[in-house]
Amino acid sequence: MNHKIIELIRQILIKTILPLRKKREEFLSNFRFSIVFRISLNYFRLLIFYGALFMVLFSLLFLGMETNHYLSIGDNLVKGLTASHPQLEDTLDSYGDKNHTINPYKDQGLNLRITNLQTKELLYNDIDFDITDKKSFFHHIFYDKGKSTNGLIFYTTRTYEINENNYNVYFQFNLTENSMDLMHLLPGMILIYLFIVYLILHSGKKGNAKLFSIMKTMSATANRLTVNNLHSERLNVAGTKSELKDLAITINGMLDRIETSYESQKQFVSDASHELRTPISVIQGYANLLNRWGKKDETVMEEAIEAIQIESKEMQDLVEKLLFLSRHDKKTLKLKKAKFNMCEIVEDMVKETKLVITNRIIRSSKLEDVIVYGDKQALKQAIRVFIDNAVKYTKDNDVIQISCENQDGDCVITVSDTGIGMTRKDIDNIFERFYRSDHVRNEKISGNGLGLSIAKLIILKHTGRIKVRSQYTKGSTFIITIPKRIY
Ligand code: ADP
Repeated sequence: MNHKIIELIRQILIKTILPLRKKREEFLSNFRFSIVFRISLNYFRLLIFYGALFMVLFSLLFLGMETNHYLSIGDNLVKGLTASHPQLEDTLDSYGDKNHTINPYKDQGLNLRITNLQTKELLYNDIDFDITDKKSFFHHIFYDKGKSTNGLIFYTTRTYEINENNYNVYFQFNLTENSMDLMHLLPGMILIYLFIVYLILHSGKKGNAKLFSIMKTMSATANRLTVNNLHSERLNVAGTKSELKDLAITINGMLDRIETSYESQKQFVSDASHELRTPISVIQGYANLLNRWGKKDETVMEEAIEAIQIESKEMQDLVEKLLFLSRHDKKTLKLKKAKFNMCEIVEDMVKETKLVITNRIIRSSKLEDVIVYGDKQALKQAIRVFIDNAVKYTKDNDVIQISCENQDGDCVITVSDTGIGMTRKDIDNIFERFYRSDHVRNEKISGNGLGLSIAKLIILKHTGRIKVRSQYTKGSTFIITIPKRIY
């Protein structure tokens, strides 16, 4: 039942509040409010709400204090009445006029009625009007309609035991004057409070504006940013730290990364164009040669056609590698993974190489079965790079060792050679795109410096690692590890 009512209320709220909210948002979206203004508005709302709450609590506290004050006076009065006679009745009799002389505080708004609880006899009463029968939520507070002015009157009842007699004393406190004092005080307090609210908002607005000034600087800097000043323009992060400063630092970090990536893209395009220029000019040269002499001279024609074939093959190879690298990075390279025995792949590659390359001593001492979970074609492409390099960077009769080992489930492929080797600087840079060692360039060994970049990309995508050991003029060893996949 309860659940149904809650659900009903929920539905009603959804049908009434939500459209209203939507309309309000639509309406507000026509305006542009600054963040500083909205913060001030929020604080204004809070200050007014809590200010009003404070006023109410203050008033209640004030009236509570006054009530306690009256109560202690009444208490002392009743206790004082028993000082001269043992029985309260005797004291009251001694006053003669029961109704008015014993209460000197009547003019100050304190009235009382004393009844003997045992005999039910009314001993004293100076109350002109009784409010006890007024039943309402605020039954302590009421306005006396019988008088010309409205009054605020509280009452309470207490029982006193005096000389084994129980007396019920009913007190009434007229707090009309006190409340009037409060009413006179409140407007002044409200005015002062509003002035304080104004001061808080005014100085707060200044502080907030200062705090948010960084946003203006940020948007101005962002507006100035172009690819040409990407290296020099950064957001100002001086001064005290705050969330906005953190944001500026984060954006600066992002700009740094964009700059690095932009620079490397630029470098890539420039290197790629540079690499393509050589084969194109060679092809052009031979085409011109053909044009001038080749029609008549058969040897020139053959030489030119062969050169054009070689160069265009190299160009094709280069363009394919460029496309691979520009299309894929560690995140975008998609692999078709499956389980296969790496040993078979390496064995096939060794056989193929031995068939084609006859002037190198190719050995494959250790070929162990090892199951790898990965992209067969991609891994083949990567390992081919190391074997091709070993062939390219060795001389006749140099030894090339290729092995495939199963090390506790990890696949470790080693390609080592006794070729030209590398310097420290080369080892540090060979995985950079287009990097080729100076002596390789000088000796005009074919290549474009992209093979190892592609191989690294593929191996890393298989969570693998590549280790390089090399000694200049002595030879190099590449150790590729593809870790076992835990199922
Ligand atoms: P490329 O072989 O087409 O130049 P790579 O990226 O495959 O491009 O290799 C980059 C460079 O690393 C080579 O130019 C060469 O200087 C060096 N390098 C790679 N493998 C070997 C090797 N086995 N022996 C000596 N140097 C090597």
